[in-house]
Amino acid sequence: MCRVPRSVFELHSKVTSGNCTVQSHPRVVKRKREIAHPIERNTGLLARVNEREPISLPDCGNRRTEAKMKKYTKTCLVMAASLVIAVSFVTACQARQQGPAAAANEHPAQNPYYSRTDTKVLKVPDSVWKKILPANIYAVAREKDTERAFTGKYWNFEGIGTYYCAVCGNKLFRSDAKFASECGWPSFFKTVRPASVVYQVDKSYGMVREEVLCGRCGSHLGHVFDDGPPPTGKRFCMNSIVLEFMPDEKKAQKPSKPGAGPKP
Ligand SMILES: [Zn+2]
Repeated sequence: MCRVPRSVFELHSKVTSGNCTVQSHPRVVKRKREIAHPIERNTGLLARVNEREPISLPDCGNRRTEAKMKKYTKTCLVMAASLVIAVSFVTACQARQQGPAAAANEHPAQNPYYSRTDTKVLKVPDSVWKKILPANIYAVAREKDTERAFTGKYWNFEGIGTYYCAVCGNKLFRSDAKFASECGWPSFFKTVRPASVVYQVDKSYGMVREEVLCGRCGSHLGHVFDDGPPPTGKRFCMNSIVLEFMPDEKKAQKPSKPGAGPKP
């Protein structure tokens, strides 16, 4: 492979020494030389070259090198894209295997009040919760919003484990107390402890309902109705967004018989 000559003098040397082997018509040679050596053309040096004399062109190695570089770059881009797709696929698979609890657990690290063992009642103002909680959790937990039916992550979820308050980590329900109510919200017939939740009368929207609040942080969870299955006859109709599910090692148990009724 020959390198590109730096000057017309060097070009002459290459021509006379016969290092290069490509032959072209004189007119083609003239045109290619003008394109390939604009500096020499501009300085008038090119005029010294006999344009009618067939010469050998300087080496085409640079072009071959450029083609190789393009091919190499293309290969690298394809490999990088394949790697990104593979990593995304593996991450998505892992998230799917871990279930909804993985997403719900993203925020507790930034929540100093979060604990799954401490049952002491919290007195934290909404202004503080607003800085800590994600907007969608804050809207339901602190502003008593209600998620739309059949949209929450747990309304038809059958995982075996424990449901905690997504705001403070308080233990609320076990999966064996969950039943398919077909109302579009996750429903349970009993809490883990009587003190897991507290109640208050809710007269909003022209109805009289019994509102269910977290027994530790006072966040709105949903409502409880008297149309649940035995043995309690209660239906704790909850918003998925304020629940946080953690699976356990136990073998799956079937949920209880379905029921239906008003929204949480
Ligand atoms: Zn709570």
